[in-house]
Amino acid sequence: MHLESFKIETRRFISRLRPKKYIKRNFDQIEIETTTFCNRKCNYCPNVKYERFGPDNNFYMHSEVFKKLILDLTKENFKGIIAPHHYGEPLSDEGIYSKLEFINKNLPLAQIKIVTNGDYLNLDTYKLLLKLGVKIINISKHSKDLSDGCNELLEAIKNKENSDFKVTPKVFDFWKDFKEDSDYLFNRGGDITIKEAKWNPIKCVYASYPVINVYGDLILCCQDYHSDYVMGNIMENTIYEIWQSPENQLMRERIMRSYFDNEICKNCLFSKV
Ligand code: SF4
Ligand code: SF4
Repeated sequence: MHLESFKIETRRFISRLRPKKYIKRNFDQIEIETTTFCNRKCNYCPNVKYERFGPDNNFYMHSEVFKKLILDLTKENFKGIIAPHHYGEPLSDEGIYSKLEFINKNLPLAQIKIVTNGDYLNLDTYKLLLKLGVKIINISKHSKDLSDGCNELLEAIKNKENSDFKVTPKVFDFWKDFKEDSDYLFNRGGDITIKEAKWNPIKCVYASYPVINVYGDLILCCQDYHSDYVMGNIMENTIYEIWQSPENQLMRERIMRSYFDNEICKNCLFSKV
């Protein structure tokens, strides 16, 4: 066995020794696919291979599904990170602002996180996001340059042009990573080929929080592009009933202990572990 493989197997073994459960009964972050539309098709994303649609053959989560989900979270006074994204670009959706307003009104203690490719981000949209309670902004850079509006915004924040610019976006350079480092890339559960992706994960944290697709299904994780692993739908049960079901808890606890039973997990490869 190579030294690297030996080290990985040892870390997997250690992940199984923890006496305490990894999976909490109440999660502290959630991702929601408010829209399936993305204006890009990056080489390292399943969107390059598939057309993604949503309810009624458009791209948007029905508002009653979105509201039901937020109200489920409200009943448990959710205070964690709430991120409206999956495989769509959240800021491409004109309705995102009213959705954020609804979250902010009902979950004032939650941390709203925007993960965006930056194409729709500029000074105006940034100010609006902050007004609606956004606390974290991550920009995923998917080409040599970010959009002009995004660059202007970053420059203005760097130069401290306004004391109200309280959120500094973090930029993750996937474009450079794809060409050079491959620190963040993975093969999306086997859906795409990434040359450098060769390691199965160790106690995969992506299983430790819920991802809700555009139909309101609680799915395995952010890699489950085709929603092949649905644990339940939030219009039939509350998100907490689904999350706390013994089947859901056991499946995730096993993944966190580096037992990969699902086909998608067996095929899931990371560039670095
Ligand atoms: S990686 Fe992000 S920006 Fe690129 S196609 Fe996928 S969802 Fe869109
Ligand atoms: S190992 Fe399984 S849970 Fe973890 S990212 Fe891959 S598919 Fe998702």
